[in-house]
Amino acid sequence: MAKQKNKLDFCSFCGERPSREMVMFNGHESNICEVCIDNAHEILEENRRFMKKKTKTSFKIQKPNEIKDFLDQYVIGQEDAKKTLSVGVYNHYKRINQTSETDVEIEKSNIIMIGETGTGKTLIAKSIAKLLDVPFCIADATVFTQAGYVGEDVESILSRLLQVADYDVERAQKGIVFIDEIDKVARKGDNPSITRDVSGEGVQQALLKLLEGSLVNVPPEGGRKHPEQKFIEINTQNILFIAGGAFDGIENKVASRLNTNVIGYNKKSKEIDQNNVMKHATSQDLKSYGLIPELCGRFPVVTYLQPLDKDALKRILMEPKNSLIKQYTHIFELDDIKLSFAPAAIEIIVEKAIDLSLGARGLRSIMETLMLDAMFEMPSQENKKSFKVTEKYALEKLANIS
Ligand code: ADP
Repeated sequence: MAKQKNKLDFCSFCGERPSREMVMFNGHESNICEVCIDNAHEILEENRRFMKKKTKTSFKIQKPNEIKDFLDQYVIGQEDAKKTLSVGVYNHYKRINQTSETDVEIEKSNIIMIGETGTGKTLIAKSIAKLLDVPFCIADATVFTQAGYVGEDVESILSRLLQVADYDVERAQKGIVFIDEIDKVARKGDNPSITRDVSGEGVQQALLKLLEGSLVNVPPEGGRKHPEQKFIEINTQNILFIAGGAFDGIENKVASRLNTNVIGYNKKSKEIDQNNVMKHATSQDLKSYGLIPELCGRFPVVTYLQPLDKDALKRILMEPKNSLIKQYTHIFELDDIKLSFAPAAIEIIVEKAIDLSLGARGLRSIMETLMLDAMFEMPSQENKKSFKVTEKYALEKLANIS
């Protein structure tokens, strides 16, 4: 009899008798102790994480117009760039998902976006990665040095991508890398009498290795500081590289190429809209700007982002899904305060942004300066339930911004 009673005190899974403080669950003719429940929970969680990763690696390709519709929610204007990117990304992932054996090999369509700072280059690349739910990372071309020199190796881009992908190599190999300021590693000038900018060219050569679709050994934590680290092999063949840069002065190269091309055809040269020469930018112009021909060849798709005018900045402030006005209104709403803006105040914000020449990038700091005092004072003024940013208020708060 005594033996029977004891049996209920032991865990049916590990066979141990738990201490007094521990919980024991009694079921029908069996028991489970707290430790075994914890262990089982861990196994289940691990399994769920694994299944989630597995489902994430295979994704449905969105059609170009669906990609563009998605981009429209976040990116104002830039119709040409959004269209080009939508097609480029669609073809890229169609190429990856291609299962049938065929002689026709679709070439990779890495993309270069030319556009002034703050016109939406990073935003477009980031939004696409969000839509596709693929790992995405941003790298600045200016921090790289050619192999063997002090600085960051280009391979560290892939370490970052791997980190974002939670060290899931398969997922990282289908990610998107955005390389910013690619124009800053251009060779300085075609003139051979000018000392050649060796380091810039060296970085271009190093980048080329990644872009060529090769197997690259990547230190998991990035950098060369831990030589004892084991390398992870990443195949860059299916990683989409999108590069961006302002390429100051490239319009002259495009215009001169167009003019040279149409020498003797006066009628044709008139057809080129002089205000929109950048529409005609190609890899050829990037080459004359100072990118090495091999690198240009790896970026077959070139697109251009327009500088943002007053109207576009106004729309950026108000329209996108997470526009700054919507964000600030929401911050105030959390304190039960209704925030509103007079149209004249919006005009002042936009004019300040134009003065700063930082594209839409300037809007954020302008809004912070504008709203700081209100954000400081309003939450403690319990009887005030609304706040309107008037023209006078905006002029006063933004007087010292330059
Ligand atoms: P860059 O062209 O320098 O990469 P970003 O994409 O980083 O510029 O833009 C900086 C910020 O400005 C973004 O976070 C975004 O909020 C805003 N922005 C820039 N261009 C646009 C645009 N066309 N539509 C909506 N927001 C934009």
